[in-house]
Amino acid sequence: MHPVDRLLHLPFARLRTVSTIDSLPPLREVINAHGLRARKTLGQNFLLDLNLTAKIARAAGDLRSSDVLEIGPGPGGLTRGLLAEGARRVLAVEKDARCLPALAEIAAVWPGRLQAINADALALDPLEHLTPPIRIVANLPYNVGTELLVRWLTPPEWPPVWDSLTLMFQKEVAERIVAAPGSKAYGRLAILSQWRCDARIVMELPPEAFTPPPKIRSAVVHLTARPEPRFAADPKTLEHIVAAAFNQRRKMLRAALKGLSPDIVAVLERAGLRPTARAEEISIKGFCALARELVAR
Ligand code: SAM
Repeated sequence: MHPVDRLLHLPFARLRTVSTIDSLPPLREVINAHGLRARKTLGQNFLLDLNLTAKIARAAGDLRSSDVLEIGPGPGGLTRGLLAEGARRVLAVEKDARCLPALAEIAAVWPGRLQAINADALALDPLEHLTPPIRIVANLPYNVGTELLVRWLTPPEWPPVWDSLTLMFQKEVAERIVAAPGSKAYGRLAILSQWRCDARIVMELPPEAFTPPPKIRSAVVHLTARPEPRFAADPKTLEHIVAAAFNQRRKMLRAALKGLSPDIVAVLERAGLRPTARAEEISIKGFCALARELVAR
């Protein structure tokens, strides 16, 4: 088929996406034009391959009826992907003011759909700007990513304001999020993530995918919020137990948790747990049973 005929056969929405993306310059040009030399202090490792950023945007699910919160858009590769995938609106929160003019160029080709703000994601209430349903997507510096993930996983109310999280992490952190009991990676992050969410690794990326390349491999994790927790438990009690148990993960539970009750051995037994077991052997169901026993005391 002649290329023009092929274009004519594309549905209108797809045609619009193709032409809009094509009207923006390649990301390398954007970086040069706006002097966006990567800053280590902001964890800047940019994704310049638009096929990759489109793939991450697709991993976030059907965006057409959602507002999207993107943290750390940088020069906007992932932002372009999110808009091209049909996100209803994107709020892009970027700490580095140098990126704002590049993001304004993207906003201009998607009128009314991209709001880019210069702010620290750790100090922002996204609900001031977005309407649920909300999906959160980010390629963030890893230290900020873990802190934000824990905040998003421990809101005052469940279900949370967001439907899904699609986040890039250092591969080891991604493995801790999806880890099963009995594995080395299993700990607080796995329990917080899997108690009230379904979590899976959807993509792995080598260092060369980024400019400049980091020293480590990366992975994208997709978490969807379950309407109800997997097992009943008071969230604060569960968090407290899990933190205490994994703070001393090599110790037996009866020692690691002795500060929680004067009669911790009996409480563990009533919860159906062996007092001599170690934290990494205990399933989420087991930790929830223990949280219920401690509250019922
Ligand atoms: N999303 C872009 C990409 O995929 O190419 C950039 C990713 S880069 C790893 C992380 C971005 O997060 C940088 O643009 C950095 O300036 C921004 N950033 C770092 N800390 C932030 C914070 N606390 N709040 C908002 N943005 C932050």
